[in-house]
Amino acid sequence: MSPWKWLEEGYTVIRTTCGSGSNTCYSTCGMLLYLKDGRLIKVEGDETFPLNQGRLCVKALALPQLVYHPDRILHPAKRIGERGEGKWQIISWEEAIEIIAERLREIMEKYGPEAIATFSGGGRGLTTYLSYFTWSLGSPNWATHLDLCLGPKIMANLLTTGNGTEPWIDFAHQFPDRYKNPRWRRPSCVIVWGANPIVSNFSYQGCWIVDLMKMGTKLIVIDPRLTWLASKAEYWLQIRPGTDGALALGMLNIIVNEGLYDREFVEKWTNAPFLVRMDNNKLLREKDITGKGENFVVYDEISKDYVTWDIYELRYSKLNVKPALEGTFKVRLADGTLCECKTVWQVFKDRLKDYIPERVSEITGIPAEKIIGATRFFANNRPGGAWIGVSVDQTTNGVETARAIILLVILTGNWDVPGGWTSEKKPCIFSPEWGLDVSKLVISFDMVWGYENLPPEQRPKAIGLDDLPLLKMWSWFGAGFPLPPSFIWKAIVSGKPYQIKALLLFGGGIPLIACADSNLVYQALKKVDFLVVADLFPSPVTELADIVIPSASIVERDLLRSWYYPLTYQTKALEVSSNAKWDLEILLELGKRLKPERWPWRNIKEFFDWCLKPIGITWDQLKEKGYIYPPYEYEKYKKGWERFDGKPGFPTPSGKVEIWSILRERVGLDPLPHYEEPFESPISTPHLLKEYPLILTIGGRLWGFFHSEGRQIPWLRELHPDPIAEINPETAKKFGIKDGDWIFIETRRGKFKMRAKLSLGIRPDVVRVEHNWWYPERLGRGDPLFTGVLEPTANFCVSSEHLGRELASPCMRAMLCKIYKAES
Ligand code: SF4
Repeated sequence: MSPWKWLEEGYTVIRTTCGSGSNTCYSTCGMLLYLKDGRLIKVEGDETFPLNQGRLCVKALALPQLVYHPDRILHPAKRIGERGEGKWQIISWEEAIEIIAERLREIMEKYGPEAIATFSGGGRGLTTYLSYFTWSLGSPNWATHLDLCLGPKIMANLLTTGNGTEPWIDFAHQFPDRYKNPRWRRPSCVIVWGANPIVSNFSYQGCWIVDLMKMGTKLIVIDPRLTWLASKAEYWLQIRPGTDGALALGMLNIIVNEGLYDREFVEKWTNAPFLVRMDNNKLLREKDITGKGENFVVYDEISKDYVTWDIYELRYSKLNVKPALEGTFKVRLADGTLCECKTVWQVFKDRLKDYIPERVSEITGIPAEKIIGATRFFANNRPGGAWIGVSVDQTTNGVETARAIILLVILTGNWDVPGGWTSEKKPCIFSPEWGLDVSKLVISFDMVWGYENLPPEQRPKAIGLDDLPLLKMWSWFGAGFPLPPSFIWKAIVSGKPYQIKALLLFGGGIPLIACADSNLVYQALKKVDFLVVADLFPSPVTELADIVIPSASIVERDLLRSWYYPLTYQTKALEVSSNAKWDLEILLELGKRLKPERWPWRNIKEFFDWCLKPIGITWDQLKEKGYIYPPYEYEKYKKGWERFDGKPGFPTPSGKVEIWSILRERVGLDPLPHYEEPFESPISTPHLLKEYPLILTIGGRLWGFFHSEGRQIPWLRELHPDPIAEINPETAKKFGIKDGDWIFIETRRGKFKMRAKLSLGIRPDVVRVEHNWWYPERLGRGDPLFTGVLEPTANFCVSSEHLGRELASPCMRAMLCKIYKAES
């Protein structure tokens, strides 16, 4: 038998990968499926797979229980009663596809394709394909959870380094021989910033951090709560939720003022020496002085003159330039007036004066000496990096917070060096001379794909674009992006700017539970004319649908995987029911009916063969090989491998790391990172403290559940039977609450009910609750809003009115609340 399938002690063993779907996280762990008579009996870790090296988390171990769960949706069904009434008629696949295709066709003809919106939740490996599907229909309205997860830090990295991925610590994950690779170096210090990967991605980043710790890496953990990692850290900074941006800027203040930065890198590879006009707060351009040219200007300390930085050639206009890093200059403009200018570095230093350790201590609640100590420790223990958790993304100021964290890591000399941060997913690192040219892959998992199919006249119709200037600019550049879902829900409810008629929910994640403002989402789902939901299990969202279609689990589908490293596969190991289909198969069938010219493939295998063709391999050959690692090189920016033109530098408008973001300047946003207090907090709304004296932070992860998924699985529910709200014993005493009591947590927007857990490790002013809870066991009794299904759902308290400027991210991590004991 081939290496991906063999017989062993009466079992058929299938080698595949876990991740991206049906209660599994986005990571890629190698796993072995043990089958008897075609039935999945057990799951084990694959010791030969470099990323997890045999380790697996409980979510994967419980897959047999998920696959054979009696509640699985196995047949397409159409609603025959009122929404939420629970009256269904089983229909065939043929009928389901026909009904959906017919209705979508009708809507496209009558209202235009933009009246169709799609949403992919947790992903299920579908993000790439749903973007292609939606845009191929001619609708710009494809939304994902990117506003809550990864989006802000990806945007921050894109603005700062031009790299459109989240930055990763060098875990040697880019090498098949991992830690044994001779070029790899162990990070000396890692900041775990608002994350707990031990729980959220156990057998992946969680184990990797422990691997590093065992080898000697030191940790700094930033968390309002004492996690296991925090207990092992050199520094645990117990932060007030939502103030991470102030802390990052405070650390930058220390790094800059104490000279702890990498001066050579800052001078040569960042836009720190560029001059900024003080009269209009914009970078000085060549045209300001000479009347033409977009090039930037520096002051040369050797010639004592102004010199331009050519943005096309990526070099100064003359040789032997030593640009001034600091200072104020009087520059004569083309109209003869004198204009005061400062270097970016000088303006940055001035900005950082607002974040002296004492003030940051007042904001964050962390003692100033700890902030200073941790910063010096990080800067003096190179190489290193930061693992940035989604708690940074889930605030309205997330992009700016992530930009400040990115800068503090980069300015201390950790960008793309062994043991620092890796720079990934850039096509140039896959150059042909280094082996298999994976850059030629037609698509890469979880990248958007197919924006060119969206007609130019449809692009400006994307809902919310006028409120999101950075995304609007991306659209002008011809780049596709997912829309933040809050705007879609609002458009459905208000009918503005136009009415969305059909909504297709694919790819896991229950928006009613996971998105901001559950009340708003509920209203939208009740109102939309035509609602299609594809899922594995009944949920409060399937209860409201017009058509429900059964999705396949990760062991019932074929999937090409290229999420970071390596390029690999996930294979269909068993048929649970001929009636469950993978979401991509459903999109393929719909696509063939609605836009056949865009969906020429007969089946999924043919499609994957087409994707892999440019790199000279077939789907079957990839399965034989198991995985492919493209070669990796460090310091790609020095070698011209970061940019498409092959010039040394970064793929940003200036070719440099942009401390001063030129794209932000262009759309009128603050070009330098800054801190904003959460919209509701002891500092921004002190008048609310009397009624709502505590800070609510939503988002606690659990070993067994991936966001809203997995609550039906017996082993996993046994680990987490009840939703937990963690509070300090001192606080509990004040409010008459005992360990194990059921309590209400109430904000100005709503309330929910959880079980209290007393914990000495949490700040006394904070209530930390687990996220995305609901009760599947209460489904089927009527409208899910009124039958207790959503009783523990915290997102009723999340505002959809206060959203971030870049990606409309809501604030989930810091709001004001009160707690009280529930009667029963
Ligand atoms: S960490 Fe767990 S859920 Fe995520 S891919 Fe690995 S085994 Fe699967």
